[in-house]
Order: sequence, then structure tokens, then C-alpha cells
Amino acid sequence: MSIITQALKDPRVHSLNEEVAGRFNIEYRHDPKSSHWGSEQTGPSSRLISYNSRCPAQSSLAHELLHFWVQGKGYRRVHGGYSSLGDGPFIRLLAALDNELQHHKMFPQFLKLGFDKREFYGDDAKEFEFAMRRALQEPPESIAQAARDFLLVIAPGGPLPGQTRSALRNRLLRGKKGRFRGKLTRIESIIAEWAQSPGFDAEDTLRKIFLEIEDPTKTWIAYSDLMSFPKGGFFIGEEFSLDDLP
Ligand SMILES: [Zn+2]
Repeated sequence: MSIITQALKDPRVHSLNEEVAGRFNIEYRHDPKSSHWGSEQTGPSSRLISYNSRCPAQSSLAHELLHFWVQGKGYRRVHGGYSSLGDGPFIRLLAALDNELQHHKMFPQFLKLGFDKREFYGDDAKEFEFAMRRALQEPPESIAQAARDFLLVIAPGGPLPGQTRSALRNRLLRGKKGRFRGKLTRIESIIAEWAQSPGFDAEDTLRKIFLEIEDPTKTWIAYSDLMSFPKGGFFIGEEFSLDDLP
């Protein structure tokens, strides 16, 4: 806990924590085995941060608190659903979108607090680049997979030099003889629009992105769990009943 107490003394983290802790009840869990910090929603207004001593505490704590800041502004996390894309590709893409859409709203605040853009993920440059290259090693077979890799490449901030990033971006755009280029560049514009918009409701953005991936589609996204179908979430295309799914 002393790492947290120490990090909270940093004026950049302190001011953010003042704002966020008034809205959420935040608990901390030391997780020495994990290589990253993480956070989860444990109730409507309770959150848990798991931390280790390997990552720089101030920027890592600011990052997790900014996730809560975005959620406090009205961003609703999405948790699975049903999709004609198939369970695996759908869940993996949705989880990446849930994370990255938050990151795009958090990043300008992170800079405003006075942090350096390279500190946004708390990882060191080599590890970050290695993870990204590993993700791109297998050329994506489907647009859902390509979109997920692309989200990582266009994620804001982080230690990756601009040149390396644009090389990775071009590699994805050229992959499969450029088959995914049109859709990926449109997804990039949809995300840029989201990042610049003043609102925090991601429904329209998710709708536009999923329709780039599959149109027509039978997709329903849940805000809490599958039991809340259909009221506790939203449809991407036309409405359907569970009997319509394969
Ligand atoms: Zn994050």
C-alpha cells in the first residue's frame, strides 16, 4: 500500500484522485506476480486497482484512475453480448474496443495533468514494441482480427517511436494484399472522431465500427451481462431474438 500512498502524494495524481474518489469507492490489491497494473468494475460505484512494484507508480496509478474518470463522465463499459461474428472474434474485438475507446478519451487528460506521452502505459519501450510485434507476427485472417491489431497500433501515447508505429500501421494496411485497407482506415477515422467529440456515450461509435466489420450483422452488446438481453444493452443492426441466432 505504501507505493499507492507514495504515488498519491504526487500533485498530478492527487488532483485526479480527489476528483475520481468522490465518485467511486476504490480498493487496491497488491498483485506482485502480474507484469501490469489493471482495474476492474466491482459494482456500480466500486472499483478495484491491482498493482505491482515493477511499473512506475505515478503514471500507472494515473492511468487506472483516468479509466474511472472516463467512466464517471458517462462512459459505460461493455461486457460481451451476442454476435453473428462468432463468440471468440466478437469478444476479443469488443474487449479491445472497450479498452481503447477509453484510452482515446483519457490520453488528453493524462497530458493535461503534466505527464509525458511515453509514460501512458507505464511499460518500457522494448516490452511494448515486443508485444506489438508479436501481435502482428501472424498476418490477420479476418477483418475482426485485423481491426483488433490495428487498435493497438493506433492507440494513443506510449513509448513506441513514431517511425516504428507507422511501419507497423503500414504493414497491417498492406497485409492480405491490402484487403482490409479501406475498412481499417475508416475505423481509424471513426475513432479519431470519437477522440475529438465532447461526449462519452460510445454506442454510435461502436455501431459504426461493428458495421464496418460486418454488415448486415446480428450483434447485440451488453452493458452488464447476457441475462439482461435485450434491455441491458443495444443492437448494432436490426433487432433479433435469441431464436434467430445459430
Ligand atoms: Zn488502460
